[in-house]
Amino acid sequence: MNYFETQIARLSRIIKKINENPDTSRLSSNKVYYELELDLVKTQWEAWRKGKPFAYVSPHSGHGIARALGFQWLFPNSSANRAWKQGPRYFDELRVAGFPDRCCDTTIIGAALCINGELPPPSFIIGHGGCEIGMEEFNSLAHWFHVPIFYLDCTLAGDENGITYLADQFRELIAMAEHKVQGIKYDEEKLIEMHEIERLAQVYYKDIYELRKRSPCPLAGRDAFRNPRRMAEYPDQRKALEYIRIWHDELMERAENGIGAVAEEKLRFLWVTSGPIYANPFAYLEKRGVTVPIMFIGGIGPFYGSSSGHIGDDTEYGRKLSPLEEEARRMNRATWVGLSSRWVNGALQTCRDLRIDGIVNFRQMGCTQTLGIGKLLEERAERELGIPTLQIDGRNISTEMYDEAEFNGRLDAFVDMCMASKGVSG
Ligand code: SF4
Repeated sequence: MNYFETQIARLSRIIKKINENPDTSRLSSNKVYYELELDLVKTQWEAWRKGKPFAYVSPHSGHGIARALGFQWLFPNSSANRAWKQGPRYFDELRVAGFPDRCCDTTIIGAALCINGELPPPSFIIGHGGCEIGMEEFNSLAHWFHVPIFYLDCTLAGDENGITYLADQFRELIAMAEHKVQGIKYDEEKLIEMHEIERLAQVYYKDIYELRKRSPCPLAGRDAFRNPRRMAEYPDQRKALEYIRIWHDELMERAENGIGAVAEEKLRFLWVTSGPIYANPFAYLEKRGVTVPIMFIGGIGPFYGSSSGHIGDDTEYGRKLSPLEEEARRMNRATWVGLSSRWVNGALQTCRDLRIDGIVNFRQMGCTQTLGIGKLLEERAERELGIPTLQIDGRNISTEMYDEAEFNGRLDAFVDMCMASKGVSG
């Protein structure tokens, strides 16, 4: 079975199980989430069978542009995270093909799924410099499949200059794709439609961010670990928007009734970078009264947080942005790219907003993006907020470095330390 067939079977099984025997401790809106995921993989599988051209895209960039150009989008790395159960097999295949097996799992398994034919080959690749290993991955795939690649270069500071600089690059990208890939034609009306749905979704996201501040946090760590997709990623964006509304309403109801992942919240942690997909450390923390209201990766604060700069906001740059500039705004706010201070500042601001007591930085093996700046985050969090950071090494798909007792033991010791410094018992 290819990736899509496997995922269709997996998601159908999950939905059947929820229908027949719902777990009342989980959010009921999760069912709509799985239905949306099923729609997505079915659409991608159908597009492949019909020979529709695929564009590989990166996080935060490209989904809307790819769709407005008439591509079916695909982000191999998010597929990799969903195919984690087959992880060991993919590592073996990579070794045979001569690829390194010590890069970040998500990127390398993403590449494996493409080169072994479980995912459709690309006709075009849109990359950006948010993740260095991801850049190498996309470069390798462009060479492997002999297809054109366009790299979006983000500014270091993410300021006003970045808007025009990036919008100009989007125009170049469009011209290149139209020229190089048969049948591709940019339709700006499609992009405007997608932005309108995203604008409406952001109103809910903003509110959900406020709900994450409530104590006890109404969101379980396991659900917070799954960052929301962009609306432009789903084939049926109206249904996706409806899911966000249902999710929001359910969280609101839980918050109003004081229902959370824990009965009594003693500590709140920010989980950073990545985490073991094959395990559930959040449930372990919750047993000790610790919630994880949010998973901080790249642009989580700016995209889903309460800061300004959402689609249609004309205050951030003092003017209304064009559709391509709106795409640029989104990339401009990705804290992964540019100077490390953007990422660290974003994480610290999220700590302030959500009254975080401690940070768990999962030091993903091979993540050149964060292995160094995780230390900067630790130092600044200690100095500016007085909160400690646990640096814990691991791989998010491969279990080779994972020892459950040791991992949870380190979490336990960190919880003890944070409780002692906060003066709570548990
Ligand atoms: S964990 Fe690091 S290397 Fe892996 S995808 Fe994220 S930023 Fe890139």
